[in-house]
Amino acid sequence: MPKKKKSPGPTSRLVFPQDEQKHDWLSLLLEGYFITDQGVAKGIELMEKQGAKLACTKGCSHCCATHRSIPAYPLELIGVTWYCTEKLEEPFRTPLLTQLMEHKHGDACAFLIDGVCSIHPLRPMACRQFNVFNKPCEIDEDAYYTRRKDVMNPIKKYTNKAFSVMMPFYGVTDRAQKRHVVENGLMHNMAKDMQNLNWASLARKMMEFDAQIPKN
Ligand code: SF4
Ligand code: SF4
Repeated sequence: MPKKKKSPGPTSRLVFPQDEQKHDWLSLLLEGYFITDQGVAKGIELMEKQGAKLACTKGCSHCCATHRSIPAYPLELIGVTWYCTEKLEEPFRTPLLTQLMEHKHGDACAFLIDGVCSIHPLRPMACRQFNVFNKPCEIDEDAYYTRRKDVMNPIKKYTNKAFSVMMPFYGVTDRAQKRHVVENGLMHNMAKDMQNLNWASLARKMMEFDAQIPKN
């Protein structure tokens, strides 16, 4: 019998055991991201089977400066807030504080520090699913509009499953209700545009957290 090919993508999800005990929502979010990442890996595999070559690489970040809107759902924003406040360390923490205080609409993403995503483990689904093939995006190029065929289509089965896993955070626990909400895209009206949010309040929260840490 032929060996079944191992599916691509992460085989285990990111864990924060103590924090997950404190915050019920965190496990839902991390599980949703795990499923999202599996879907992304599968999508990349399918594109590559058709001869396309993934252009996204570590250090490539024009997309984070080009996108005029970056949708994120309430649970994701809570995850970003928690991660920045309680987990983010140097060399990102200090420059991020300054950047969050100064961020305004039209700037690059508030979380892009020296060409690196400072919240990479907790970046939203929209960022995880945006993958471009064949050649890296030019500065100011949004490949979704300039060459749609080079942009990966997220696989609906994985996206829906990821949303479904996160639904209890929004009070939707019944299986049929979850399916109704997800399949009809009812959660999309909850998305906020990260480019339009006032991130100074997050910077203040981070500073309050830092002020509580005892100094040696
Ligand atoms: S989407 Fe474009 S700019 Fe962003 S990592 Fe991929 S190739 Fe680079
Ligand atoms: S959250 Fe991270 S990956 Fe997403 S746009 Fe901002 S810097 Fe880029």
